[in-house]
Amino acid sequence: MADVVLDKVTKRFDDGTIAVKEVDLQIADGEFVILVGPSGCGKSTLLNMIAGLEDISSGELRIGGQRVNDREPRERDIAMVFQSYALYPNMTVRENIAFPLKLAKIDKATIDKRVNDSAKLLELTELLDRRPANLSGGQRQRVAMGRAIVRSPQAFLMDEPLSNLDAKLRVQMRTVVARLQKQLGTTMVYVTHDQTEAMTLGDRVVVLRGGAVQQVGKPQALYDNPTNIFVAGFIGSPSMNFLHASVADGMLRTAVGDLPVGRRMQKMLEAPDVPDELVMGVRPEHFLDADLVEGQDLGPGVQFESTVDLVESLGSDKFVYFTIEGASASAAELEELAADTGDTAMLSGSNLTVRFPAESTATAGQPHRIWLPLNRIHLFNPATGRNLT
Ligand code: ATP
Repeated sequence: MADVVLDKVTKRFDDGTIAVKEVDLQIADGEFVILVGPSGCGKSTLLNMIAGLEDISSGELRIGGQRVNDREPRERDIAMVFQSYALYPNMTVRENIAFPLKLAKIDKATIDKRVNDSAKLLELTELLDRRPANLSGGQRQRVAMGRAIVRSPQAFLMDEPLSNLDAKLRVQMRTVVARLQKQLGTTMVYVTHDQTEAMTLGDRVVVLRGGAVQQVGKPQALYDNPTNIFVAGFIGSPSMNFLHASVADGMLRTAVGDLPVGRRMQKMLEAPDVPDELVMGVRPEHFLDADLVEGQDLGPGVQFESTVDLVESLGSDKFVYFTIEGASASAAELEELAADTGDTAMLSGSNLTVRFPAESTATAGQPHRIWLPLNRIHLFNPATGRNLT
């Protein structure tokens, strides 16, 4: 096992593309770190540099305290699992898992023991004599993982290992991966563009955009305190709502009403580099159904009424959609985020997505009252994208 340290690691391809920009990252021994971000943000390139499959243009990579920039992949004692699990079709599951050990000329008794142990961990014992053609997609992916763990490497690198599986299997395999990492306690770096995987799997999440690290933190910390519009919009599903807000006379004026500003926020808004026109961000579950919180002391906030466009019931709770005229926020980072994620709804701003408990009576076509608590809002600088709250 080993820690993995990236010190200003940069990748510049021959055509001049800078895929990874001066990334600093310290991954502790035994830690499970997720790299997440939209397509093309440099996740795979970063992982490939750690694996030794891509050269590092500048910066330093250390594994277990050793500089490994110039070491061949096989000298790095790292195992990689890809999205497409290339198993040998004419070998059994046992032979597939044993293969890396055979290559390393390990004795047969040790191979047998290690293969059996790995198979047990991945619940593959019953399938050891089958060939890949007779396995389900999830089972094949477990064999690919078996082949990685059998070597007891210093670290695992996984590049979207579950993205070829259907939704249900992906959920099952998520728990397999999480359990595996906990049981083995091996350092793991895991690439995904699926923010649910990012939120549920890792100890820490690294959000990348355009090859640069946007934020590193525990999943909940990223969710609660996103550093900028990009992270705020990327982490969380459905996405955070973004509305235009302007500061005037100690109030925040928004299309859903005027919010009183507390002393702390007032001070922050008065800073010289903070513009009067801002972007307000609110997560869907932070809007409250005013009928359900009637009479409760909720602190400062604003109540507004809007006609329900659509209700989607999820059983435990429901998504309620509203249209708020004139709510559109504008910010370069918001446009970039919408383009990156294909979620252009966030640009129109007037589409509000709200998450209410199942007992909410919100009904399509009917007006409904909504409460927005002041302490749940985020305010972003539209020029820099930075979260001011
Ligand atoms: P995805 O989620 O789509 O797999 P990613 O985040 O893993 O994307 P990378 O594959 O690391 O992104 O690519 C990062 C950037 O580097 C992209 O702009 C990509 O086009 C570019 N890139 C990747 N490989 C090369 C290459 N061999 N030559 C030039 N540019 C490349």
